[in-house]
Parts: sequence; C-alpha cells; structure tokens
Amino acid sequence: MVIRTLNDIYLDLRNKLIKENRLQADLEAREVCVCGTGIERDQFDKSRSIFMSEESAEKINALFSRLISGEPLPYIIGEWDFFSLTFKTPRGVLIPRPDTESLVEAALKATKRKTPLRVLDLCCGTGCVGIAYATQMPSVKVVLADISSDALKAAKENILMHNLSGTVYPLHLDITEGYRPEFGKFDLILANPPYIPTDEISQLDQSVRDFEPHLALDGGPDGLSFYRILSEKWKDALNPGGILLVECGMNQSEQVKAIMKQASYKMLRVYKDLTGVERVVSGRTKN
Ligand code: GLN
Repeated sequence: MVIRTLNDIYLDLRNKLIKENRLQADLEAREVCVCGTGIERDQFDKSRSIFMSEESAEKINALFSRLISGEPLPYIIGEWDFFSLTFKTPRGVLIPRPDTESLVEAALKATKRKTPLRVLDLCCGTGCVGIAYATQMPSVKVVLADISSDALKAAKENILMHNLSGTVYPLHLDITEGYRPEFGKFDLILANPPYIPTDEISQLDQSVRDFEPHLALDGGPDGLSFYRILSEKWKDALNPGGILLVECGMNQSEQVKAIMKQASYKMLRVYKDLTGVERVVSGRTKN
C-alpha cells in the first residue's frame, strides 16, 4: 500500500468534490481531513506533509463517503458556526442557517433601547438563536424550549460549551399545548419555527430532505401552522409591551404579519435578511 501525506489525501478529496461540482470543495475537503485526523483546524496547513496512518486514512475515507452520499457537513463534523460562534450539530437537530442570523440581529435591534429581562426561544433546536442573543446581552435570562429531546440535548451541550449555564436554561415542551403560567412571563419571544408547507418537503434539497429532521421543517398544510400557535397560544407569555419576533420563509412575511395582526399584536415590523428576503416579522403586545 502507498503511504500518502495528508496533502495527497486532501488534494484527492478536493478534486473528487470539484468533479461533483461542489461549490465548497476546498472547505469540505479540509474539514473532512481535520475531523478524520483530529488535528486542530489552524494546524492543517502546517500538517500537510505528515504521512497518514492507515487508520487515519480510513477514517477520512469513511467521513468522505458520508459527504458524497449527501449528508450535510455539519452532521459529519458534529459542529457548525453561527453568528461567529460554534455550535454542536448532532444528527436529528436542524443545522443553524446563515438566514437565521437575521433573527438574532433583529432581536438585538428591537431591544436596543430597553434590555429585556427574560427571553424565550421557542423551537430552539441547537439553541443557536437564544445563545447567540445571550452572548450579546449579558444581563438577560434566556429559556430555550423544544419538543425534540435530541434538540434539547444539543441545546444543553451548547449552553455548557458557551459557559452560559447561569444565564440560559433548557425546557422541554410542546408549543402546540400553549403557554402555562408556571413558565413565568417574558419580555421577548424568539422563534424559528418549522415553516415549510408539508407538500413542499419532498421538493427540498436532498441533503435537507433526507438528513434533517422533518419535525423542524414541516409547518403544516400552508407552512403557517406554528405562527398561528405562537400568536394565539403564547401571547399570554409576554409582559405588556413584550415582543414576538419570528423567522419566516420566503414570501411568508405578509401572511405572518396578518396572523399577528389578527391576534392583536401592534407595531408590526418586517426585517430583511442579507439577501434582501423579508425574513423576520415582529409585533408587540399592548403596553
Ligand atoms: N430555512 C430552513 C430551510 O429552508 C427551514 C427552517 C424552518 O422551517 N424553520 O431549509
């Protein structure tokens, strides 16, 4: 058997990925090599001339096969960056998207003048939204809630990873059951709920459809079920003048606004993401 250096393996993987027309070929090849060898990411370039053991080469190969089968890179390497922070991303939990950073940005803007005391992140998944917000607002207490045990487990790990156990708390709940007074009141509710219409799940990208949890994607027949639940069944969770701030899908902002208006939310506002899509809708309860 030919003994190969890390660089040989890396270039080989990169070329295979380029042939598959993968736009992130370089990044994917590097990440697979870093994860398979266990070397630090910032030591990669310095380590390229190292000869690889058969064991490392096999490990890299196994990770690469998963990538080629369509599995998203964050599941393969077990972590992903969001809002310049790293989050654990195990299988079974939605991978943080760059679009969702707009939800955190909008929350920071909306609460610039008056810092909220208690924040609730519903459908929290990895916890990336509530945790990112908490890192920017050191005096708040944040509750991360989800129905999925896999999500809650990941959220707990992410709370620990960011040293926020005195500030951010996980809570297992089903949002369809609505608010209960024992949760206490909040000044801000953040949510990136499932919003893909059920019939459109089958048309999603293969790597999303076949690998990511449908529970975190399926927003019911028109994709809007969770906005109705959030607006109607969680309004009592907010203090007077409290803010509900939600991410929505492309072309859903008008309908989400209408749902919030129907539920008597005031001062409705839409925020665009970096690509110009109306991505976040907010409303306030009466003062
Ligand atoms: N933005 C995700 C996607 O399109 C959907 C996330 C969600 O439903 N909240 O893959």
